[in-house]
Amino acid sequence: MEIQTIFVLLVCFGMYAAICGAVGGVILTKQNRVVTGWLLGLLLGPLGWLIALVMADKKRAAIRQKTISRKRKKKCPDCAELVLAEARKCRFCGYEFSPKEQDMED
Ligand SMILES: [Zn+2]
Repeated sequence: MEIQTIFVLLVCFGMYAAICGAVGGVILTKQNRVVTGWLLGLLLGPLGWLIALVMADKKRAAIRQKTISRKRKKKCPDCAELVLAEARKCRFCGYEFSPKEQDMED
């Protein structure tokens, strides 16, 4: 193999690595896992992007779930039990929430 061929192959691989890695990194940027995405893209190419997309989606779903569960319950100031955020009355002790407390998160 000529040295020029090797050089061209190296440049091509470098470009491939940069592009695949960058795409993987971009996919997981919002999840703060740029390096993971970059490695996935670099090592697995388009397959790695798919894995990164699935990972990003799972993370998004987890965040969404967390937000919902955090919003849907509040702590009763009387008995410290968790009750639904929409509740006007504590189901454990019968404490009645004021309208302000009904909007309160957590
Ligand atoms: Zn209570």
